Amino acid sequence: MALTPDERERYARHLLLPEVGEEGQEALRAGRVLVVGAGGLGSPCALYLAAAGVGTLGIIDADAVELSNLQRQLLHATDDLGRAKVESASETLSALNPDVKLVMYPERLTASNAPEVLAGYDFVVDATDNFESKFLIADACYAAGKPYAHAGILRFGGQAMTVLPGESACYRCVFGGPPPGPVPEAARGLLGVLPGVIGTVQATEALKFLLGVGELLTDTLLVYDALKMTFRRVGVKRDPGCILCGDK
Ligand SMILES: [Zn+2]
Repeated sequence: MALTPDERERYARHLLLPEVGEEGQEALRAGRVLVVGAGGLGSPCALYLAAAGVGTLGIIDADAVELSNLQRQLLHATDDLGRAKVESASETLSALNPDVKLVMYPERLTASNAPEVLAGYDFVVDATDNFESKFLIADACYAAGKPYAHAGILRFGGQAMTVLPGESACYRCVFGGPPPGPVPEAARGLLGVLPGVIGTVQATEALKFLLGVGELLTDTLLVYDALKMTFRRVGVKRDPGCILCGDK
């Protein structure tokens, strides 16, 4: 279906890009992206994906908005304290772009619900903040054959990598398994703007994937240091002995 006059105006700056154009904008409208987590990373990521006109945006998160979230989680405002994050996210995103079909899941992604939830999407964004969820997403996306954008943030730094299951290095190729024990509270500090940078990298990867343009961040860990203001690209390889995607 051709773009409507309103869509032509809303996405005018996209239509000026030969790499996007009408065809690309229609591809974005047909695109379905699942954002796992409506927190620090999920906020900028979902906001930009909705603004860009991704047609279907799923968000899965079981948490409620807390005061300490507001230092960085831009989907939520002070009036939203105590509300389910998916509810507050849904309001913010539909105010930004009412044309986006929002699918909200007020639950945690688990090994048991993942196959059904993931089935409805073309691309997944790991916007979670704990190792348990990150390995779960790595495993579930591999099993479902879904490409996804990984990211992690801590203190003044962050990292991102895109995984094409069975083609590029997976999260377990690079990190193996979760570290023993929880991350100590003192090590969980975070500069509020950090997820803005890294979550936006993830949104960029999702858009590039849907448009089929550029080079995805595969076989590469992008490492961001806010204090030095550097982005480093670290080459990574698919490990034939990987317990998830290896040859055995
Ligand atoms: Zn692997």
